[in-house]
Amino acid sequence: MLMHELTMPGFVQQRRQVEAAILPIGVMEQHGPHLPLGLDAMHALALAQAAAAIEPCFVLPPLFYGICRSTANHPGTIGISGDALRAVLHDIGQGVWSQGIRCLCLLTGHAGGTHQSALIEAGERLLTSTGLQVATVCVLDLLAEARPILQCPGDSHAGEVETSLAMHLWPGLVQGSAAEEYPSFPRFRLVRDKRAHWPGGVWGDPTKASAEKGRLILEAEAKALAALVAELLAAAQEGA
Ligand SMILES: [Zn+2]
Repeated sequence: MLMHELTMPGFVQQRRQVEAAILPIGVMEQHGPHLPLGLDAMHALALAQAAAAIEPCFVLPPLFYGICRSTANHPGTIGISGDALRAVLHDIGQGVWSQGIRCLCLLTGHAGGTHQSALIEAGERLLTSTGLQVATVCVLDLLAEARPILQCPGDSHAGEVETSLAMHLWPGLVQGSAAEEYPSFPRFRLVRDKRAHWPGGVWGDPTKASAEKGRLILEAEAKALAALVAELLAAAQEGA
């Protein structure tokens, strides 16, 4: 259930049975010429709601900001620093714990490495500052069951997966399509002009997308996320 839609007594009543929460996290960043800027948080929110329908848990209001590195220069991208992200995640986690919730899953729709590292650091801090059971997971890690239907192995941004999800969940927000593209960043050297190495902002092949694939991807992700919430709850039961 969406926590921001509950009343105070409604929350107190739900908390008697519900001991876990998912925080959907995304970033405001370009998603090619055809997908909305907020897709990562929108995806994480829709997925959290689908998982909560399988394994009841609170779905916290999504965080639409995170660390954007490779998309930092593209139009529409608004990132925050790692310090800010770690701080806000830690504060939210402490708030969740102080409200009597025992398990927290930090679910990110954005797969950037530095962004995911900040989630892990905040999660590790919460392990020492609270009694929470904590998981950090990226949507791409929950896809395994849907892999056989996917045709583009290197897909990671605004490509087959995200375009399919958008066609399934928000068809009115998909603006046409985009061509297959992969960035050309140097392996180790950091670059100032990111757009020169990634002009279109697509990482994968959006032409392989379909609404039906989006439905199956969301279904597979939701099952895997619900299983992760169940694992957190079992660990809380054991007091591990
Ligand atoms: Zn994305």
